[in-house]
Amino acid sequence: MTSNKSTGAGAAGTEILNFIGGEYRKGGGRLFENYYPATGQVHAHVHEASREDVDLAVGAAKQALKGPWGRMSVAERLTILRKVADGIQARFDEFLRAEIMDTGKPRSIASHIDIPRGGANFNVFADQIASLSTEAFQSATPDGAGAINYAIRVPRGVIAVICPWNLPLLLMTWKVAPAMAAGNTVVVKPSEETPATAALLGEVMNAAGVPAGVYNVVHGFGADSAGEFLTSHPDVDGITFTGETSTGEAIMRAASNGVRPVSLELGGKNAGIIFNDADLAKAIEGTGRSCFANTGQVCLATERLYVQRGIFEEFCAKLTAQAKSYRFGDPFNPEVTMGPLVSDIHRQKVLGFYEKAKAEGATILCGGGTPDVAGFENGYFVEPTLWTGLPQTSEIVTNEIFGPCAHISVFDDEEEVVGLANNSPYGLATAVWTENLSRAHRVASQIDVGIAWVNSWFLRDLRTPFGGSKKSGIGREGGNHSFEFYTELRNICIKL
Ligand code: NDP
Repeated sequence: MTSNKSTGAGAAGTEILNFIGGEYRKGGGRLFENYYPATGQVHAHVHEASREDVDLAVGAAKQALKGPWGRMSVAERLTILRKVADGIQARFDEFLRAEIMDTGKPRSIASHIDIPRGGANFNVFADQIASLSTEAFQSATPDGAGAINYAIRVPRGVIAVICPWNLPLLLMTWKVAPAMAAGNTVVVKPSEETPATAALLGEVMNAAGVPAGVYNVVHGFGADSAGEFLTSHPDVDGITFTGETSTGEAIMRAASNGVRPVSLELGGKNAGIIFNDADLAKAIEGTGRSCFANTGQVCLATERLYVQRGIFEEFCAKLTAQAKSYRFGDPFNPEVTMGPLVSDIHRQKVLGFYEKAKAEGATILCGGGTPDVAGFENGYFVEPTLWTGLPQTSEIVTNEIFGPCAHISVFDDEEEVVGLANNSPYGLATAVWTENLSRAHRVASQIDVGIAWVNSWFLRDLRTPFGGSKKSGIGREGGNHSFEFYTELRNICIKL
């Protein structure tokens, strides 16, 4: 079934369909409800893909590898990818509305980050693949004639793309764009909470001339649903996943069947480190964003703060003032700066941590409950919350909460704070605030993470390696690093 109206543009009553082989299709599974987090109302119904639908999608993707996509020159592919970027831009308002209805995130965030980056990913990876080089060697042979070895990069094949709900279009295209640039085909399983923009992108792909079967979307849940059907499918050649660490472990187990490679971007419990000599105004502004942006639902968000003793009291007071300055309300109002959490279940989880902190005797600097949001009484809002006074063993300090909250601890010297920051099974990101260049370098290089910022947070250059250490992931994506996963090197040896 093909439809322009029913793909997920966010209008009330919308039906969100699977996109398989270039066409929108109902699924053989359930019809499940999709909620607008700002009101708790159902805003769309989603067609769950059955095992047969996933089979069709993977089959379409496999077939497309043999068709025009597989035979296209890099230059032709890149022209199409740039049209996809232009297509997202041309339908900016539809993508914006779809993302806001699915996530409840404020327009001020979605219009500056999610949708622009969703489009930019296609241009960035088109640029990257256009200048990708490989290695070559001249070799000696016993007869003196010599040989030349050179490597080419070939697409891996059908890539399963499993993505979370916090930055749906951005994180999905972060994988789809390099996969397609490298000549692969994809089957995307968006989070069940946020299926709309992935579905809408199918229309843009068709309009840009992407051949049928190159980009497919199947909706549903994880275990015993589309997620598991996809990751366990024998014709999937690689799995790229962003989400929780425990889900990553399940996906790795599925990938081991058939020895398929995985790229995993997982959870974090990131430390922010603020030294006495930091530029305090900048540290407060940046740290505030790192704790509260997107209602704390960012894998790179800071949930553990370590502040040096000399500025501890002042820092706590000023960050508390910043936490209290956020404005709740209608996500479509450009003045609103904090939206709800993505779902009622997630809100219960975050509020559970708020209760636990109280029960453990934390000093609550601000928040700890739910705000009154006039006109949005049934939305999944929670207050930005800051605590002090808990031991490092508390679950508040050790577990990823994924809400607008952080615990602040005091420290005295560099060695101590490096130990505290590294005392975590996660290793995704850190932010170090100091005006001492040598200290900045010393500390940033000692924290076991994939990304260390100095005097900034979320300052991203998409050519740089992105990923986590320890339980925060396997592999690096971004720039040419993405092609380590989305291509395979094939060495060709020519005897001269
Ligand atoms: P989840 O791990 O719950 O879900 C991610 C995706 O995996 C969803 O599409 C989910 O489907 C699917 N899924 C769940 N179980 C399975 C399974 N057994 N097989 C296949 N697919 C499955 O993560 P969230 O959506 O809750 O996202 C939040 C998490 O993502 C946080 O831990 C956060 O830190 C992490 N994250 C990491 C980033 C990074 O770059 N390191 C970036 C952004 C987020 P469904 O939801 O429909 O059940």
